[in-house]
Amino acid sequence: MRDHESWGVSTVSTTTAGGAGHPGGPLDDAQAQLAFAIDHLGLGPGPHAVLATPRRELTVSVPVRMDDGSTQVFTGHRVQHNFTRGPAKGGVRYAPGVDLDEVRALAMWMTWKCALVDVPYGGAKGGINIDPRHFSEGELERITRRYTSEIMPLIGPDQDIPAPDVGTSEQTMAWMMDTYSVNQGRTVLGVVTGKPVSVGGSLGRASATSRGVAHITLLALAHRGLEPTRSTAVVQGFGKVGRDTARLLAEAGVRVIAVSDIDGAVHDPEGLDVHRLARHVDETGTVTGFAGAEAIDGGAMLELECDALVPAAVEGVLTEENADRVRAGLVVEGANGPTTKAADAILRAKGVLVVPDILANAGGVVVSYFEWVQANQAYWWTEDEVNERLRDRMTMAWHSVLTYGKQQDLSLREAATCLAVHRVWEAHRLRGQYP
Ligand code: GLU
Repeated sequence: MRDHESWGVSTVSTTTAGGAGHPGGPLDDAQAQLAFAIDHLGLGPGPHAVLATPRRELTVSVPVRMDDGSTQVFTGHRVQHNFTRGPAKGGVRYAPGVDLDEVRALAMWMTWKCALVDVPYGGAKGGINIDPRHFSEGELERITRRYTSEIMPLIGPDQDIPAPDVGTSEQTMAWMMDTYSVNQGRTVLGVVTGKPVSVGGSLGRASATSRGVAHITLLALAHRGLEPTRSTAVVQGFGKVGRDTARLLAEAGVRVIAVSDIDGAVHDPEGLDVHRLARHVDETGTVTGFAGAEAIDGGAMLELECDALVPAAVEGVLTEENADRVRAGLVVEGANGPTTKAADAILRAKGVLVVPDILANAGGVVVSYFEWVQANQAYWWTEDEVNERLRDRMTMAWHSVLTYGKQQDLSLREAATCLAVHRVWEAHRLRGQYP
C-alpha cells in the first residue's frame, strides 16, 4: 500500500481489496459475478485484478455532538470502485452493520449499473454504520455534514457524485450539497443528486428507481407472455423503491397481493388498495395494521405464489435457505444484491427468471444522470421529458441484456454483468494503462 495523494487516500493491493469478503456476503457475490464475466469474455488475470480492485477507498471517523451534549464517533466509508468512463457515482447508505466490504460490493455494482445503462460514470458507494431511526433530525444533520466534510477530498461534480440510498433522503442530499458548497464558497448543484427539486433536484428523480423497476417488471411479464391485468406481484419493502413500485404496478393493472416493511407484511389475494395503503403508512409509519388485509410474516411473504416477486429492501434476502420455496415466476431485483449466489443458482434451476439489480433498479442512477446534466447546464426538463427518456433507456437496456443473454446462452445476470464489464474494460483498454 502507498499513499495516493497528500490527503491520505490510499490505493490498496489486489490481494486485500480484490478479496472475496465474508463468505456468502455481498462482496463475495460481487466478486464471483465479476470472475464469471472475466472468464466468459476471456479477459485474463490483468483485467481481472484491475476490475476487482477499488480505485480509492476512504474510511473516516465522524465525531458528532449529540442532543444530550455527549459526543459519539461513527465510522463512515466512501469507496470509488472505478472512474474509467467518467466521475464515480453512487449512493450513501445509513444502516446498521454497514462495513467496508459491503460498500465495496455496492460500489462495484454501481460501476456495472452505470455502464449497462450507458451513463458516463464509474461506480462508488458510501455508508455510515448507524440506524438513522435512532437519531434526531439535528443529529442526522450534524452526522451528514461532518461525514461530508471528511470525504470532501474525494467528492465533487467531476469526481464523485453521491446520491441517496438506504436510510438517506433528499434532505440528506440537501445537507451534503450545502456543506460542500459552503466550503467551496459557491453553490455547486452538481456535487450530489437526488436533491429536493427546490435546490436543484430533477422532477421525476424521487420515483425514478421505482419507475424503472416497474418498467422492467412489465417488460419481463410481457416476455413471459403475461398481461399486466392478469398478473400478480409481491413487493418487499415499502420505502424509497418499494412504495412507488407497488403503486406504479397497481396503476398498470397488476394485482399487488402483498407488501412488507421492516415491521411485517400484509396480504390480500384479491389485490391490495395500494393508494389506501400508502395513506395508512403516512399516518402510522408502517404497513402493518392495514385494515382489510391479512397480517403475515415478512419471510413467508417471499414464498407466496405470484408472477413477479420484487425484493426492494436490502441485500441477501433470497438465500439458499428460502430460494427453493420461492413460488414466483420472476424475481425483479429492486434492491441491490437481494439474491445470494447460492439462491441465484437454485432459482435458475427452478426456471425462475431473475432480473438482476444492475438492470432492474438502474432507473435511479439514470435520472441522477439527468439531474446532474440539468444542474450543470442550469436548464430544467419537464417531468414528462424525464420520464420518457428514462423509459427509453430502461427499455434499451432490457433488450440489450435479453438479446445478449439469448445469443450467449447466459442468465440475465450473467449477460448484464458481461455487457457492463466489457464496456468498462473497453474504455480502460482504449485509454491505456498509465504509465
Ligand atoms: N442508490 C441508488 C442505486 O443504488 C442510486 C445511485 C445514484 O443515483 O447515484 O442505484
